[in-house]
Amino acid sequence: MTLTLPFDNSYARLPERMFTPMAPTPVRAPTLIALNDALAAELGLDADALRGPEGVAMLAGNRVPEGAAPLAQAYAGHQFGGWSPQLGDGRAILLGEIVDTAGHRRDIQLKGAGRTPYSRMGDGRAWLGPVLREYIVSEAMHALGIPTTRALAAVATGEDVFRESRLPGAVLTRVAASHIRVGTFQYFAARRDTEALQALTDHAIARHYPQAEGAMGLLQAAVAAQARLVAQWMGVGFIHGVMNTDNMAISGETIDYGPCAFMDRYHPQTVYSSIDQYGRYAFNKQADIAVWNLAQLGSALLPMMGADENAAIEEATAVLHAFPDLFKEEWLAVFRAKIGLSTAEPEDPELIHQLLDRMSATGADFTNTFRALAEGTARGQFSDPAAFDGWAEAWQARLARDGQDVAARKARMRAANPAIIPRNHRVEEVIQAGVAGDFAPFNKLMNAVQQPYEEKSEFSDYAAPPKPSEEVRQTFCGT
Ligand code: AMP
Ligand code: MG
Ligand code: MG
Repeated sequence: MTLTLPFDNSYARLPERMFTPMAPTPVRAPTLIALNDALAAELGLDADALRGPEGVAMLAGNRVPEGAAPLAQAYAGHQFGGWSPQLGDGRAILLGEIVDTAGHRRDIQLKGAGRTPYSRMGDGRAWLGPVLREYIVSEAMHALGIPTTRALAAVATGEDVFRESRLPGAVLTRVAASHIRVGTFQYFAARRDTEALQALTDHAIARHYPQAEGAMGLLQAAVAAQARLVAQWMGVGFIHGVMNTDNMAISGETIDYGPCAFMDRYHPQTVYSSIDQYGRYAFNKQADIAVWNLAQLGSALLPMMGADENAAIEEATAVLHAFPDLFKEEWLAVFRAKIGLSTAEPEDPELIHQLLDRMSATGADFTNTFRALAEGTARGQFSDPAAFDGWAEAWQARLARDGQDVAARKARMRAANPAIIPRNHRVEEVIQAGVAGDFAPFNKLMNAVQQPYEEKSEFSDYAAPPKPSEEVRQTFCGT
């Protein structure tokens, strides 16, 4: 079986100082851990060929397929608010782009593919843990209906990498609408390379927002996409954990699954990341941080917003100031659906916040409380059930005014409130088993997170919150 991929590499046709053409570094003994059949079909690729020796060699970086134009992308970024003028793909290689069966252009990137000129002190590799985590969480995100990069495959390299200890190496094949980040624009803006900046802007508009007019239109489109994305994260209790400007994709997809986590017990200030000491990227800060990042995008795009800089600044500021209202609107749509409302009343935000306040006061499980609302069993999710009763009275009155058929509402609430999220303690369990060479827990968890809205008895272990002894309180970048 020969493997052919219909590459069409538009990024590789941009000015060459925007990236470094280079092939992945081969690995010793690649073996396939996982292949995403559904995504392969979406891309128009032959899954059996990908599973074959040629396919696995490609997914490991050992064989550059016909038509690929492998390269490492240059970018910069603000990390925890501090400026890093040169980041870039330090352990990722973009093989090329494929136009999928729906006509959308998708990047095919190998993560953990070896050193590049952007590696700095890093080894260019990934260990199995973060590869499995990204595979699970990004595919869970997709199943939840939230824009995200995807995972096409995970391959074990047969080589060890050295972190705090010796760990098995792996490569993830990541598929994305593009890997263009806020930090990609910042890289060229900081160098006053207006020509590259213009080429990148034109490329990003053509690729993601063809209706957008110029740099201002691009900013506006990115603002709207991020407002919608972060509102969707809030609806599933997702904490990105490293919302640096180099980890924000211009496409509006969730990108870079590092110390990310879905909350178990709800508290708005939850932070899991071990490196986020001051809670910059806490759950309830994510909308504000998105605006901060988008302001950096606006600054980077300024040289392309016309000769009258003051007028451009004024207009870009107005575009950024639209974010809070856009976000509020998206957030309300998400949470109205979660509590079963099909109509809008001005007091709805208050009603939603009262529920959230009671949840955080009693440490209710985020996912299970909302799911139980659909089932009529939410009272049992509160350590102090009286706290729920007070709210439920107002909610019932509101539902009566909403006037939906009970069965229809229940079905819609189930579709807005997942039963299954990839809980941290399950992800950790899968990684530990994987390091020991057992991928059965990975496959089981993947099966569950791909059907998040189904309440199947075989998935009940994955719906259950962690026991106190199982609880994961901290996540690590652990690259
Ligand atoms: P991240 O924290 O994943 O957003 O990565 C920040 C920067 O560090 C990016 O430029 C990465 O390419 C780079 N990086 C992370 N891990 C490694 C590694 N193991 N080897 C080389 N570069 C890395
Ligand atoms: Mg990153
Ligand atoms: Mg990362």
